[in-house]
Order: sequence, then C-alpha cells, then structure tokens
Amino acid sequence: MLSSIEGQSVVVTGGSKGIGKGIAKVFAARGAKVMIAARGEEAGYKAVEELRAQGGYVEFCPCDVSDWSAVKNLMSTAAERFGSLNVLCANAGIYPTKRIFEMEPDEWDKVQSSNLKSAFLCVKAAIPYFDQAGSGRIVLTSSITGPFTGIPGCSHYGASKSGQLGFMRTACMELIKHNVTINAVLPGNIITEGLMELGQDYIDSMAASIPMKRLGCTEDIGHAALFFASKEAGYITGQTLVVDGGQIIPESFKGIAGIG
Ligand code: NAP
Repeated sequence: MLSSIEGQSVVVTGGSKGIGKGIAKVFAARGAKVMIAARGEEAGYKAVEELRAQGGYVEFCPCDVSDWSAVKNLMSTAAERFGSLNVLCANAGIYPTKRIFEMEPDEWDKVQSSNLKSAFLCVKAAIPYFDQAGSGRIVLTSSITGPFTGIPGCSHYGASKSGQLGFMRTACMELIKHNVTINAVLPGNIITEGLMELGQDYIDSMAASIPMKRLGCTEDIGHAALFFASKEAGYITGQTLVVDGGQIIPESFKGIAGIG
C-alpha cells in the first residue's frame, strides 16, 4: 500500500473532464486538496460539485494552460488557497484530427501550445512553490500516440506528446536540485468526453486493437499518477508508464486476439 497523500496540495490541469477529472477523483478520494483547472468555467464548477459530493476537497481555477499569465495565476492561487503546492499533474490537452496536407500552420501551432508549451509553462510556474514546500512531484499526461504509435490525422498531436517526453528528460535533471521529480503517464485509449467526440467507429476500432478488448477508464490513469506522486516513487524521475491494456505490444493480429 502506498503512503498517504492526505493533505497534499495538487493541481490537475484539464481537471474538468475526462482523464483530468479521473486523476482529481483518485487524489481527492485519498484526502488530497485538489485544484482543477480548465478554460470552460461551467464544466469546471460542475466537476467541483461532483467531486465534492463524493467527499473531495476540490476547487476550480479557470486557466488556459497555453497562456503564461493564466498559468502563473493558477499556481499562485493553488498555493494561496491550500497553503502550499506539492503535486502538479500537467494533463490538459487537445487532440483535433487533421491530415498533414489539409492542416494549416496555425492548427499545428495550437496543438503544440496546448499540449507541449503548456507543459513547460506549468512546470516553470510551479517551481517557486515547490521550492517553498521543499519538494515537489510532477506527472505529465503524454500518450502512446507519438512516443510509440501513429494515427493518420494525429501528426501534430503525436509530435506534441513525444515532445513532452523530450522536455521531461532534460527537466528531470534540472529539477533534481529543487527536490522535484517529473514522470509521464502514457495512456492508451481511455473513455473520456474528448475521445467520444471521435465517434463510435473510432472507439470500436480501438477496442478491437487492444488485447484486453476494452478501453481504459480515467481512474486507470489517476492511479498511475498517484503512484508517481507517492513517497514510494521518490527515486523515480524522467520515466514513463504506459497504461494501455497492452495496446502497443502485439506484433500480429493473432497477438491482439491473444491466441498466438
Ligand atoms: P477531454 O475529455 O477532452 O478533456 C480535456 C480537458 O483539458 C478538459 O478539462 C479541457 O477543458 C482541458 N483543456 C483543453 N485545453 C486546455 C487549455 N488550453 N487550457 C486548460 N485546459 C484545457 O480529454 P481527455 O481525453 O481527458 O485527455 C486529457 C489528456 O490526456 C490530454 O493531454 C490527452 O492528450 C491525453 N490523452 C488522452 C487519451 C484518451 O484516450 N482519452 C489518450 C492518451 C492521452 P476546457 O476545454 O474547458 O479547457
């Protein structure tokens, strides 16, 4: 069993929906104080209501993670409201699909700033508060898409998710003197509001490609993030954990079916 996370102050970006809400739920259920952040205020306050109804200590701070001033405000708000900042789950991200020949340069830029630049901004803004606390933990939500796999229409997305890992591998060294670890969870296909927008055909074809024959749930990612934030993971930094029901492993269709 992992040591208690009770009373720790946690920021979860993209916490109003999907994986971020699942991460917030897992931490809040264990007594952490969780600040969720997203752009949409209605969904943000609705998530707070839902998580509080389950007994969680949860607040919402509106924030666009690609905006430096908003990100600085997020970290200072969390530290002020909760008295410190201990854990950052940099999870917010977007995954619009567009083939390369149709993609406009600003569509490429938007994905990079929402998914990759945002990781840099959140980490940079959190460091002073981790210094005040004496230590800190950072968990990035990357993806199997980019680091391991590709999907037509996801070149910008895959680049951003691989980029997060490149960023992390240098950040982990720079952060050691701040007593901060940084690791990444790489989800496979997880049922979320965002994923459902890709349509039932997409979901069915993904389920058929996963040896476990089902998509993951948001708490599956929450538990992996909780491990990286735990005392027991204190000697792990710059590492990745794939949570995908075995999706990246099979070398053959028979392997996907688990028959040979
Ligand atoms: P989702 O259901 O669409 O939720 C995305 C969350 O991020 C929302 O709370 C959204 O709120 C927030 N967000 C998006 N852009 C933001 C911005 N610029 N500033 C602040 N918040 C922002 O997506 P999801 O499926 O949970 O994905 C969450 C993360 O997991 C992403 O980084 C995604 O790449 C990664 N991931 C997902 C899967 C999957 O299968 N679902 C697989 C691999 C990796 P607002 O729109 O209101 O801002």
